[in-house]
Amino acid sequence: MKNHKILSLLLILGLATTSIFAQGSKEQSNVKKIGISKLLPHPALDAVEQGIQDHLSTTNLEVEYNLQNANGDISTAASIAQQLKSDNCDLVVGIATPSAQSLANVFREIPVVFSAVTDPISASLEGGNLCGVSDLNPVSAQKMDLLNYIDLSSYLLSVIPSEMPASWPIEALKAQSVVARSYILRNINRHKNEDYDLCATVHCIVYSGAQNEHTSTTEAIIATRNEIITHNGNIIDAVFSSNSGGYTEASENVWINSLDYLKAVNTTKNDNYNFPLKPFEIENWFVEKPASYSNNKYTTQSSYRWVKNINLERLKDRHALEDIKRVYITDRTTTGTVKEIKIEGRNKTVTKNNSAIRRALTGLKSNKFIVKNIYNQNELKSIIIFGAGWGHSVGMDQSAAAGMAVEGKKYKEIINFFYPDTKITKLE
Ligand SMILES: [Zn+2]
Repeated sequence: MKNHKILSLLLILGLATTSIFAQGSKEQSNVKKIGISKLLPHPALDAVEQGIQDHLSTTNLEVEYNLQNANGDISTAASIAQQLKSDNCDLVVGIATPSAQSLANVFREIPVVFSAVTDPISASLEGGNLCGVSDLNPVSAQKMDLLNYIDLSSYLLSVIPSEMPASWPIEALKAQSVVARSYILRNINRHKNEDYDLCATVHCIVYSGAQNEHTSTTEAIIATRNEIITHNGNIIDAVFSSNSGGYTEASENVWINSLDYLKAVNTTKNDNYNFPLKPFEIENWFVEKPASYSNNKYTTQSSYRWVKNINLERLKDRHALEDIKRVYITDRTTTGTVKEIKIEGRNKTVTKNNSAIRRALTGLKSNKFIVKNIYNQNELKSIIIFGAGWGHSVGMDQSAAAGMAVEGKKYKEIINFFYPDTKITKLE
C-alpha cells in the first residue's frame, strides 16, 4: 500500500464543480441545479448531455437538471442562456460552440462548462469561470492530459491545504491528515468503472495540484506518516464536515447506513444543555450560542450560528405556492437535525425531507435550525431561520478539531473523539 498510485480526474466537470461545491467542505447532500444548453438534438451532442448525467448519477451529489436545446437556432441559444439565468442554476453546461458562447456572455459568477467545442480559444471560451473540453482530434491524446498519476503522499500534500486552512493549529492539521488519508484509501475504488481512482472535486476530495502545498500541512502529513484510522481492522470511511454547530450527527440520520464509528458527538462545553433537549431548550440552544469547541477564533464567520431571512417571493416561486401561511418543522433528530419540514400555502402544502430541505428553503448552510414565522395582523410578513453549523455534520467537525487543538488536545484525542471505537494504526 505504501506506494499506492492515485489516478485523479482533473477536468471533465471536475474543476468547474470544485469552486461551488467546495463550500462547507465535504458537502454531499445539497441539491445543485445544473442547466444544460445544447445546440440541437444530434447523436454526438446527446451523448455529451447523457454522459454528464451518467457521471453525476454516480456521485452523492443531488442534482436537478434544466435541459434545453436550441434546435440549431443561435438566437434561441441566447434566450436559453437568459432562461437558465433566471432559473438560478449553480452550474451551466454549453454543448457546441454557439450554446457555450451564449452562456459565457450571460454568466460571470457561476462555472460555465463547455463541450463539443473544437477551438475554445478562437471562440473566446477561456479564462475566468469558463472551462471544458475540446473535441479537436486526437481526443485520446487530450484525455491523457486530464488524468494525473501521483502517489498517495504527494496527493495528500496538495489535498490537506484544500480541505483545512494551513494556518490552523498543527494538531488539527495532523488530525485532518490522518482523516483524509483514511478517507482516500477507503474510497479508492469509487471511479473504478471510469478507469481512475478519485476525482478532484468534493465528490471524492478536492485536489488543486502541487502549487497548493504549504509548509505546515506538509509537516503534519510527515508527522503522521502512514497513519490511518481503523474499526475492527478495516479502514474507516472518515467523512468530515466544516462545522457541526455543537453536536455532530449519526450517519444514519443523514445518509442511510448506520456505522458504529459515525455517531453523534457533543462538542459544546456547556453543562446547561442535556440532550435530548425539550422544545423550549432547543430554541435557547439555537439562539444563545453555547460555548463549544466548534466556535473559536478559526471558525468561519457565521458558521457556528447563523440567521437567514427567507425571501418569501423566491420561496413562493420555487414551490408554486400562493400566499405562504407558514413554514414548520415536523421531525427532528435528538441532536437537533431537521428531518422534515412543511411549507404551507393557500393552495397547497409542500413537504420536504432530509437533504432536500436546505435547497427547498432557498439555500441553508445546514439542516440544524429553528423557524420563526412573523405576522402582522394575521398576514405572514417574514420567515427568519436561526441555524447552527455548516455542512452535513457527520464525522469530524473541522472547526471543533481546531478548537480542541487550541485547548491542547492532541490529534489522536481529536480523532478518537469524533470517530468512537476506532484505532490509529500504521499502514504496512
Ligand atoms: Zn469522485
